[in-house]
Parts: sequence; structure tokens; C-alpha cells
Amino acid sequence: MRQKIVAGNWKMNLTKSESIALLNDINASKHAENVQMIVFPPAVYLNTLSELNARCALGAQNFHPAEQGAFTGENSVLQVQDAGAEYVLVGHSERRMYFQESEEFLKDKVDAALAHGLKVIFCCGEPLSIRELEHQNEFVNKQLEESLFHLPAAMMQKVVVAYEPIWAIGTGKTASSAQAENMHAAIREMIATKYDQDLANQISILYGGSCNGTNAKELFACANVDGGLIGGASLKTADFLTIANSF
Ligand code: PEP
Repeated sequence: MRQKIVAGNWKMNLTKSESIALLNDINASKHAENVQMIVFPPAVYLNTLSELNARCALGAQNFHPAEQGAFTGENSVLQVQDAGAEYVLVGHSERRMYFQESEEFLKDKVDAALAHGLKVIFCCGEPLSIRELEHQNEFVNKQLEESLFHLPAAMMQKVVVAYEPIWAIGTGKTASSAQAENMHAAIREMIATKYDQDLANQISILYGGSCNGTNAKELFACANVDGGLIGGASLKTADFLTIANSF
């Protein structure tokens, strides 16, 4: 049985008090025991939120792969872990697009996170122009080859993949369940080809892109969709919990 995961990417939203209230609300609410819930708050609140000892795990949206050094404004892999992160996001399209994070840099982030025992949620996904050409599988395979598939099997086992078509992120446009299932099955096949079927069967593959309380049930019913990485809808307790209870 693969781990079911519902992760909330809060992005650059919420104040400290709003973050505390949201995590407390999530923690106080009923949600399925067999679903791992994770939230990715702004890094400046990780420390405070870790003191709430919530059932919901914490993750860092970003980090620098070096442990320390002259990187003004950055938080190191060691620092986000020290502040309470158990998970990290790597390869989110907003980091690739707005902060020019290259495939090589993402590879370094994956390596640094795993070397420190952090769990990686690796994001991949194609822009609309690639989807229109129906080249999405090749595009995603390249992203995995360039930043993830260098890992030995023992490390790859610790990775969660999130398929996030860029055209669906924050746009209100969701991939249909057929589009999501096709790509998730293709990603599992890519992992099986690179490693083996057993390993591929163990890896959770999340869907991200305008997933909400209304469409989560249909998406999560797909055989290869093991949960979601949620942006906008993770900022409201009720919506986030509806999604977490959609399996
Ligand atoms: C995301 O940013 O990872 C995301 C999926 O955002 P949204 O749910 O808002 O599309």
C-alpha cells in the first residue's frame, strides 16, 4: 500500500497568527488516520509552528543545498530542518520559473535534502505549449532524468513525486482525471524502467494543479494518484480537510 498524502503549499501567504490558527484548526479536525497531511508554510514560521506539535507534518517550500555560507537571504538545508521541516519541496514550477532554478541546482537540492534525512516531494509538469503538442510525457521524463534519476534505488525510495501541469497551477483549470491518471501511470512506468516495478509501485505520486474540495474525489479515485499537492485550497481549513477526506 502506497502512502496517501495531502500536502498544502501555503506559498507566500498568511501572517504568523493566521498560520498558527490554520495549523491548529487542521490539527483539531477529524481527518483520516491513513492520510499523511503536510503543510509547507513560509519558512519564517516553521519554528513557531513546529512548537505546536501538530499531527500534520511540516515542510519547507525552499532551501539552499549548502549547509552554510555566504548566500544572503537564503535558508540552508540544515536550517530548515532545524526549524522543524520534515519534508521539502524541490522543483516547484514557481521556483523553476521565477527563481531560475536549473535542473542541475534541483539535483543538488535533492541530494542535500536526502543526505540530511529530509523527505523530498519532487515536482514536475509541463507548460501548456508542451501539452498542446502532446509532448508532456517526454518533457516530464526529461525533468526526472535530469534531477532525480541519478539517485540510487535506496534513496529514490524516499522520494514522493508531484505531477503539477503548469497550466493547471493557480489557474482554476484542473487536469481531467483521465489526463492525471495517464501521466501518473506514465511516471510510474518511467520509474519502473529506470529502477524496477517494485520500487515504482512503492512511490507515492501526487497530483497538483487547482485541486479542490469538488474535484479531489474523482482525482484521488484514479489508480495511480496517491494524493495531492494543494495550493490555493490549502489556505482554508474546510477546503483542505475536504480534500484530505476525499480518498
Ligand atoms: C501548487 O502551487 O503546488 C498548486 C498546486 O497550486 P494550486 O492548487 O493553487 O493550483
